[in-house]
Amino acid sequence: MTRIKKTLEQPTPVQTSNIQLPTGDLVPGEVAPGKKILPKLHRIAQIFGYDRVEPSPIEALDSFGQHEELLALSPDKYVRLDSPHGKRVGLRPQNFLGVLRAYTTHHVSERERMTKWYYIEPAFAQDKTALTHLYEFGLVNFGEASSVSDAHMIMTLRHLLQEFAIPGIVFEINSKGCESCGPYYEEVLSRFLQENKFDLCQDCQQLIRGDSKISEIVSHNLLSVLSCAREECQTVTVGAPQIIDYLDAACNKQLTALLETLDELEVNYQLNPRLFGSPRHSHTLFKIKIQPSIAGEAEIDLGTGGRVTRFVGKIAGQPIHTLHYSLPLQALYELIAQHGAEQKYDHTADVFLINLGDLAAKKSLRLFQELLRNDISVAEHFGENGIKNQFKLAEKRGCLLALLIGQKEALEGNVILRDVRSGIQEVFASDRILEEVRKRLQD
Ligand SMILES: [Zn+2]
Ligand SMILES: [Zn+2]
Repeated sequence: MTRIKKTLEQPTPVQTSNIQLPTGDLVPGEVAPGKKILPKLHRIAQIFGYDRVEPSPIEALDSFGQHEELLALSPDKYVRLDSPHGKRVGLRPQNFLGVLRAYTTHHVSERERMTKWYYIEPAFAQDKTALTHLYEFGLVNFGEASSVSDAHMIMTLRHLLQEFAIPGIVFEINSKGCESCGPYYEEVLSRFLQENKFDLCQDCQQLIRGDSKISEIVSHNLLSVLSCAREECQTVTVGAPQIIDYLDAACNKQLTALLETLDELEVNYQLNPRLFGSPRHSHTLFKIKIQPSIAGEAEIDLGTGGRVTRFVGKIAGQPIHTLHYSLPLQALYELIAQHGAEQKYDHTADVFLINLGDLAAKKSLRLFQELLRNDISVAEHFGENGIKNQFKLAEKRGCLLALLIGQKEALEGNVILRDVRSGIQEVFASDRILEEVRKRLQD
C-alpha cells in the first residue's frame, strides 16, 4: 500500500513569484506548424461528426474525490492553485477527466443517446522551476456500446493521418475483457506468474510481489510483465495464458464484430493479445503504430485509445460506455514534419478581394458585403500589402477568383477579375461582377 500513499502526495501549491510563466504563444504571422495543421484537425473531426468541447482548464480537485486512489494510478497531477475561498482547485494535467465531468454535470446523456466530442485544448504541468503547458488533441465517444463506434473512431484517426500523408499506419487491436471476464483472466495469469516467478527478471518479480488480492494496481502490474522486454521474462511468458482464450461470449462477440468491421473498411490492423494500454482501459482497445518506410528506422508509437468504460463507471459512479483517444499535438507536428507531406492551407474561400488606394478600399468593402449577402464565400486582407503578396495570399487560401480594384477601376466603376490558377484577367463593370462571379463558380 505504500506505493499508493506515495502517489497520493500532492505537489505544493504554485508560488507565482518563482515560476517561469508558460510560453508557447501563437502569434499571427509567425511560422508555427500548428497554423496549417489545426484547421485540418478541426475540419476532419467535424466531418466525422465530432463536436468541439472546451472543458474549463480549472478543475475542482475533488470532482472525482471519492476515487483518489484510482485516479492516482495515472500520472495525472493537477497544478494546484491557491484559491481565496479555500476550495481545492487546480489546472488540469490532461483533458479527459474534465471532459467526463462536463458530460456528467451537464446531464448530456439525458439529451442524446450517443455523444461524440473532440477537443484541442492545453494541459498543464509543473516541476520545481517551471509551469508549462502542451496541447492535446482528443476524441471521445460517450453512450455507445456497439463496436461500430470503435471502428468509427479508428476510421476517423486513419483518415486524419492519411490527410497528412502519413504512410505505414497500422492499428494493433485487443480486448481486456469486461468487469467479469477481465478479472478472471487476471487471476489465471496471476497463478501462472506466481508459479514461474523465480524465472522472471528482478523488476518483474518486484511487480508481482505483495498483495495477492487482485486490485486495480496489482492486476495492471501483472499485465505489464507480459510486455517486459528482458529475455528471461519473454521465455517465461511465451507460454502464459492469453486473454483471447478467457473472454466471455459478449466480449468475444464484440471483439470479433470490431475486426469484421475493420476488414470491411480495409483498415490495416494486427491482433495483439498483449496490448493492455493503461489501467484505465477495459474492453476493446487499439494502438496506433507508424511503420517505418525505410529499413532500420524505428517504429513510431502514436498511443493507445479505446474503451475506458470500467474506469469511467467507477469514478463517475454510473455506467457510461466510453471510448477515448488523445495525443499531444507536438507528437503529431513532429510526425508530420518528418513523415508527412508539406501542408497546404485549406480552402477557406472562393473569392479573394484586393484593393489599392482609399477609394478602391471603400468600393472593395462594399463589394465584400454584397458577396457575403449573396452567400459567396469571400476573403480579403484590407491593408497595404503589395499586389504580389495579395495574389499569393489568394492562392494560399485556396481561392478560385481574385477581384482587384485599383485607383483607375474605382474611378471608372470597374473590377478586374482574375482566375487565380490560370492568372488570366478580365475587366468587368461593377454592376455585372456578381453575376460573373456566380457563373464562374458554377463552372
Ligand atoms: Zn467480458
Ligand atoms: Zn521482466
